[in-house]
Amino acid sequence: MAADDEHDHDHDHDHEHEHAEEDAHAHEPEEEARQRAETEARRRLALAQIRQYGDPALRLIAHEVEDFDDDLRRLADRMTVLMHEAQGVGLAATQVGVLRRLFVFQPDEDGPRAIVNPVIVERDEETEIDDEGCLSLQGVKVPVERSTRIVLEGKDPNGEDLRLELDPYASRVVQHELDHLDGVLIIDRTDDEHRKEALATLRPRAVLR
Ligand SMILES: [Zn+2]
Repeated sequence: MAADDEHDHDHDHDHEHEHAEEDAHAHEPEEEARQRAETEARRRLALAQIRQYGDPALRLIAHEVEDFDDDLRRLADRMTVLMHEAQGVGLAATQVGVLRRLFVFQPDEDGPRAIVNPVIVERDEETEIDDEGCLSLQGVKVPVERSTRIVLEGKDPNGEDLRLELDPYASRVVQHELDHLDGVLIIDRTDDEHRKEALATLRPRAVLR
């Protein structure tokens, strides 16, 4: 799942503010601009490694993981790096073309987590509609209804049992990533009007590529 844009806007504002104080910190803005360009280059490189809308892998159902081996741990590590570089808060294995039930997510400051064979075992009846973006559907943001609180069970990449009681934001991210493992995208979960709008955004891009 893509991170919220609002954070970026705040960041831009900070930069403008700092430019006004350029005399006091002559070298800082230049260094920051260089770092920002590098971060942006990394983001684009990461996105180029993530399957984009139209790719059939995004519509396939991932298989249960049976072997908790080095191969799986390497995949989880690689996905975690990609998620960070793409500036996302979650990434599912199907998004890198691997049909295994595994996703990584980091909805808050608590370290990134990799969840294998995830299952929602409890779900609040209460739901909430909020905008979601997706690293595989660039430029699209649509309202999606999700349960506000879920309990997730699964395993870590070493095969140890996990049970997570999640807050509303983490619950949203996890439901989004679990959908990916079943070939379901946010455009399937939104209303007709937003779906039409999203498809209009995605189509011209597919032609240009
Ligand atoms: Zn997504």
